[in-house]
Amino acid sequence: MKIQILDHGYVEFIEAWGQGSHSKPTATEAELLTGNDYEVGIIEAARQSTQGNFRGWEQDERLLSYLYTSDPPHATPFEFAGMVIEVQAPLFVFREWHRHRTQSYNEQSARYASLPDFQYLPTIDRVMMVNIQTKNKQAGNVGGIALSNENATKWLEMAEQAYHISMEAYRYGLAVGVAKEVARLTMPVAQFSRMRASANLRNWLGFLRLRTDSKAQWEIQQYANAVKSLIDIHFPQTAKYFAWEQDK
Ligand SMILES: Cc1cc2nc3c(=O)[nH]c(=O)nc-3n(C[C@H](O)[C@H](O)[C@H](O)COP(=O)(O)OP(=O)(O)OC[C@H]3O[C@@H](n4cnc5c(N)ncnc54)[C@H](O)[C@@H]3O)c2cc1C
Repeated sequence: MKIQILDHGYVEFIEAWGQGSHSKPTATEAELLTGNDYEVGIIEAARQSTQGNFRGWEQDERLLSYLYTSDPPHATPFEFAGMVIEVQAPLFVFREWHRHRTQSYNEQSARYASLPDFQYLPTIDRVMMVNIQTKNKQAGNVGGIALSNENATKWLEMAEQAYHISMEAYRYGLAVGVAKEVARLTMPVAQFSRMRASANLRNWLGFLRLRTDSKAQWEIQQYANAVKSLIDIHFPQTAKYFAWEQDK
């Protein structure tokens, strides 16, 4: 599943894990039937003391609820499930994303491969959001100046020209023999890059708490919302309690 974001970005589901012993070659037929249930591993991890098995969600939803809603929560069992995604996003989004130090990343290297001609150009509506009052101070007007449609359009035109000049310098550099690692210096933070990100479920939930929040920058919120929709699909039991937590 690939979710398109911004003008050239996406979040793509690569894989999930957390099937616990249901993924073993010796799994019973019943276990194999629930083999794509990526939350069994959470229950099995929580039952380590008693070596208890997964008993089906009718019974085990109570245990998952207990783990999640205890105060403080029993969070470590949620480290026994996880997900890998591929992300294409502007460099400034990656800069924010990579602050989540406990995720694992591998990014396309502009030292080895040429950069694609993709730079993020926001829509006029995105630029004009600055006039909307929100709790997100950083997204508000600079010095209280209301932005006009005309000035926003002018700024977008200038941004497009700047991207064009950056790309031209980059391509010229490559054409005349400047190394890729040096030629890339002309590129803006709007330049798209691509990475794989892997994290356990506990970690993804931490990412969602911080980056689906209205105080996060709008662009990374769009990516976090896409990650959330993948969590909803692949970890539906946990997603219910995440929603409960957000509504509290
Ligand atoms: C709205 C918003 C504004 C922000 N503004 C800024 C900013 O202005 N400048 C800036 O630099 N960053 C900023 N950040 C980034 C923020 O400070 C965090 O670095 C980022 O959100 C990652 O969170 P994290 O540390 O919990 O995640 P991770 O790095 O994935 O860590 C997960 C958890 O592991 C533990 N952990 C990880 N590393 C350590 C460690 N070294 N020591 C102890 N415990 C650790 C902590 O419990 C942590 O919560 C902002 C984030 C948001 C959401």
